[in-house]
Formats: sequence, structure tokens, C-alpha cells
Amino acid sequence: MPQIHDTDVSILGLGAMGSALAETLVKAGVRTTVWNRSAGKAEALVARGATEAASAAEAVRASRLVIACLYDHDSVHEVLAPLVDDLAGRALVNLTTTKPEQARQSAAWAAQAQIAYLDGGIMAVPSMIGQPGASILYSGSEEVFREHAPLLDQWATSTYFGEDAGLASLYDFALLSSMYVMFAGFMQGAAMLAPAGVSAGRFAELATPWLTAMSGQLEGYAKVIDGGDYTVLGQQSLTFSNLGLFIEAITDQGVSPEPVAMVQRLIQQQVDAGRGTEGFARIIESIKHPRV
Ligand code: NDP
Repeated sequence: MPQIHDTDVSILGLGAMGSALAETLVKAGVRTTVWNRSAGKAEALVARGATEAASAAEAVRASRLVIACLYDHDSVHEVLAPLVDDLAGRALVNLTTTKPEQARQSAAWAAQAQIAYLDGGIMAVPSMIGQPGASILYSGSEEVFREHAPLLDQWATSTYFGEDAGLASLYDFALLSSMYVMFAGFMQGAAMLAPAGVSAGRFAELATPWLTAMSGQLEGYAKVIDGGDYTVLGQQSLTFSNLGLFIEAITDQGVSPEPVAMVQRLIQQQVDAGRGTEGFARIIESIKHPRV
């Protein structure tokens, strides 16, 4: 397996994330070529030892391993479509956020052009790159992943999900979906407390340990969901979980109950289907089968 200094790397895109990726490699002593559409973003990297390419084509030709960290799927193809001949025979790691289907389209496009393609989903903000806690999810070419694992590990903990290039993105969106709903729950609580003169900061002091403790419930829910039996004893029933009183209390504060009302709609759908005595985890059936 090549060590990190054996491979030249080119990074296309020096936005906040591309710059963080490039900086980490430069610091690790990797020969790094960088390119950005607009001028003026490479200066600090060049001062630390990176080479700036005058064009995306020049950047691609400089390295066997090409990293794309651009804005979206369209911008990746706008930059790379004219360069298929230059990219042929090289490895392309696309860390731009795209939908699973777009990742699969990119993989099919790359296969036709003899480009070894690995897709990645970054579970970190730029300041976390190269630090403990950062994670990057990969799928697509296993060969690219295995060959360059020591280099990819410079950025974050690297996890490979399989040859289907869409999988990393699917996990990425699943994790972010759960995060956004949790954040909306925090906003719900903060909005309820605001009319009582409680700051969001004070609420965060209480919500952080509470939500951290509650995340311990996820494994139990997962066991029930994977087992498919929502009648197992010890679960909080859907009827017991009725959030009607919560919605009244929130509305009494003069704020919108929308995040909690969304959960209540998922509960009610199962209660209406005659499943009220079953466990709370059953709301996943309202999500999986929206009309059941
Ligand atoms: P930025 O908005 O900071 O940078 C976007 C980059 O894309 C810039 O280099 C920009 O070039 C380039 N770009 C946009 N459109 C084009 C185009 N048509 N042709 C060529 N280059 C183009 O975004 P980030 O660096 O933060 O994010 C990059 C990717 O990483 C995104 O897909 C994002 O979702 C993903 N990501 C970012 C995270 C974050 O916290 N920032 C977290 C996880 C993933 P120019 O300078 O010329 O505008």
C-alpha cells in the first residue's frame, strides 16, 4: 500500500472545505496541487508548499489522485466533463455533496471514461478536518479507497460502505436528516421558553446533557425496528406518547408547535390504523409507508 508521501494529489475547489482538505495534506507533507475557479484563494496554501495550477486541466494532469470539492453535482461536471481524456487512468475522489442518484450518475460517467471513481460524504465542518471527531463516508471504487486509505485518513476517520457509489451519500443524508430534526426540536424548546424570558443559551445548558442522555435510547429503538415487533413489552405505547397536551402547552406560549405537531401526526397515523397500544418506534411505519 502506498504511503501518503508516495502519491501526488490535486484538489479542485478551494472553498471553505476544499481549503481545509488541502491545508491538512500540505501540513502532512503531501505533494499537493490546488486549483480554484476564482483567483486569490490559493495564496496561503502556496506559501505553505502547495503548487497552484493555472487551470483545472493542469491540476488534473499533475496528479494520479484528483479530489473534487466543488459546490454541487452540476459544478463538478461543468469542470470535469471537458477533462475526461486527462482524467482517464486516474483516480477521482468526489467529496462534493450530491444526492445518491447523482453520485451513481457520476460513477457511471467515470466508468465510461476509464476513471476510477470514489464518492465521499463529509461529516464535519472545515475546522474539524484533520481533527478527532471528523468522519468521511466513502463508497464506489474499493480499490481507490484501499490504495489511498492512509491519505484519506489524514482528513478524518474514513468508512467505506461498498461499490454502490450512492451509498456514502445515502448515509450522509440519513445522518444529516436526523440531525436537522433534532436541531428543530431544540428550536422548538427554545421558542417555548423565550416568552418566559429564558435565553436560548440557558436552554442549551439543559438540552445538551438531556439530548445526550436520550441518544442512549437509539439502540433500543433500533432493536425493536429491526426485530419488526412493536408489541414487545416495556415500550412506551403510542397512545401514552400522545403529544396533544404538549401542543396545547406550546400554543399557550403563543409560538408554533410545528416540530412537535409533525411528530404527533406520525403518532396519530398509527393510532388511527388501530396500533395505539404498540410502541413509539412504530412511527417509523408512518414514515416508511406514508399512507398506512
Ligand atoms: P464553498 O461555497 O465555500 O466553496 C464552493 C467551491 O465551489 C468554491 O471553490 C467555488 O469556486 C467552487 N465552485 C462553485 N461553483 C463552481 C463552478 N460552476 N465551477 C467551478 N467551481 C465552482 O463551499 P464549501 O467548500 O464549504 O463546500 C464544498 C463542498 O463540500 C459542498 O458540496 C459542501 O456541501 C461540502 N461540504 C461542506 C461542509 C461545510 O461545512 N462547509 C460540510 C460537509 C460537506 P469559487 O471560489 O470560484 O466560487
